[in-house]
Amino acid sequence: MTHDHDHPHTHDDHHHDNELDPFAARVRALETILTEKGLIDPAAVDVIVETYEHKIGPRNGARVVAKAWADPDFSDWLARDATAAIASLGYTGRQGEHMQAVFNSEATHNLVVCTLCSCYPWTVLGVPPVWYKAPPYRSQAVINPRGVLAEFGLKLPETTRIRVWDSTAELRYMVVPMRPAETGDLGEEELAKLVTRDSMIGTGLPLRPGSLSPSALWPPQADLGAGI
Ligand code: FE
Repeated sequence: MTHDHDHPHTHDDHHHDNELDPFAARVRALETILTEKGLIDPAAVDVIVETYEHKIGPRNGARVVAKAWADPDFSDWLARDATAAIASLGYTGRQGEHMQAVFNSEATHNLVVCTLCSCYPWTVLGVPPVWYKAPPYRSQAVINPRGVLAEFGLKLPETTRIRVWDSTAELRYMVVPMRPAETGDLGEEELAKLVTRDSMIGTGLPLRPGSLSPSALWPPQADLGAGI
């Protein structure tokens, strides 16, 4: 299966896992040189990394999804112009400049990957999980998406089509999962708690209210390691 996308090698989150060690070494060397020349403050670098790892995380995306579930006008806006709709909640910045929201339905389940490297919507999901950057996920997501979902414990009905979106430096995708049943009386804040990171990548489903299991008929998602 071909999965072309125009993927210029100009973006700065270019992790090639098959050369991870040289890459890490180059990062270390660059950081050392820049620090020695007084061009960067290592503490500032740590703050940036900390921010994306722990402060932003997938909570931003969860609020976007919850608002879309609760507010049809926002949902329409998110479908038409995700970048603007997401920015209206204050979530802007690098790796999120051009966003597209893809909506799950009974007919279509969406799955996000970056086949070439690790493009990911940082502003709404934080830093990508290790498996997202791993070659098995990146290749199998397009070759055998249903098999990948099964690895995550997500078995969709055969009648549900799986649509795979290959992220690029220019365009990042987030999945808007279906709103779980029995959430009619929940406010946005409560709804947001049901939205998992994986449900916004497409490898999982939102939680069911009052439980830690996914919302639909399918078994709980497994914690997938680097090897699928
Ligand atoms: Fe990429």
